[in-house]
Amino acid sequence: MEFKDNFINRYKELTDLDKFLEICQIPLRKSVRVNTLKSSVSEIKKAFPGSKPVPWCEEGLWVSQRGVGNTPEHFLGKIYVQEAASMIPPIVLSPKKEELVLDCCAAPGSKTTQLSMMMKNSGLIIANELDYIRMKPLDINLERCGCLNVLKTNMDAMHIRTNFDKILLDAPCSGIGTIRKSPKTPQIYNTNMIKKLAGVQKSLILRMFDNLSESGTMTYSTCTLEPEENEGVINFLLERRDNAKIQNINLNIKRSPAVLEFEGKKYNEEVKKCLRIWPQDNDTEGFFVTKITKQ
Ligand code: SAM
Repeated sequence: MEFKDNFINRYKELTDLDKFLEICQIPLRKSVRVNTLKSSVSEIKKAFPGSKPVPWCEEGLWVSQRGVGNTPEHFLGKIYVQEAASMIPPIVLSPKKEELVLDCCAAPGSKTTQLSMMMKNSGLIIANELDYIRMKPLDINLERCGCLNVLKTNMDAMHIRTNFDKILLDAPCSGIGTIRKSPKTPQIYNTNMIKKLAGVQKSLILRMFDNLSESGTMTYSTCTLEPEENEGVINFLLERRDNAKIQNINLNIKRSPAVLEFEGKKYNEEVKKCLRIWPQDNDTEGFFVTKITKQ
């Protein structure tokens, strides 16, 4: 795997570079989420002997078999092939039955199907996606998993102006946390692109916060490790909305300290409550998750 100089220079300031680069070269463990709308953890454990539980997700299993995406369990929607760290944002959002939930950047639907499962197919989820081409896999996954409480919309989330009890903003991002799955990511590393994405994320987080109903909750997540797309976006929200509060996240997972200062900009101390996960922390992808409430 090749890493650009600007990538190395940035990441040696942010983490233990040797450990980070070492894990980036090791392929990811394969994980699935049991879809309890159609199956049970015990049924899937029997179908995939030797599977190991993901500590932070009751329905998560690491499996050793190859080609899990080609099994009857997958085609029947009994499992969703989903990276273990990607199971965290819906757990943090914790939607309840009968709530009105927005998943504003939904395709291909790993987290929408998880939210639907957690809500036991009740309440209502609006699954929105900007990209028309990505609506198709979203559609297929929702149907395969038997999600009946989901309405799809195909628009720029910036145009959504309705109040929701819960909102998931799983933002478009530079995907640095997914290097183990996409080894080309460090070759196309581009800090201008990161600044542009941070601009989109800042617009989306303000819009989504304003869409929260009184005492609503939202989760902001990315699969990148870039401070400007993570703590920088949360800091931006806190600078602009006095009634935005960051909540602690208590999960059975190893976490790393949040970034409190980047390129001379000091962030609000509240960003310490954000969940920053490096690939070397739990042998997963890198992820960033924040729980935000309106008060
Ligand atoms: N939540 C999805 C999942 O778990 O399967 C992954 C979402 S992916 C990180 C981000 C998605 O946001 C992409 O599908 C992208 O096309 C979509 N997107 C980008 N900008 C958007 C916008 N302004 N409004 C709605 N969706 C957007």
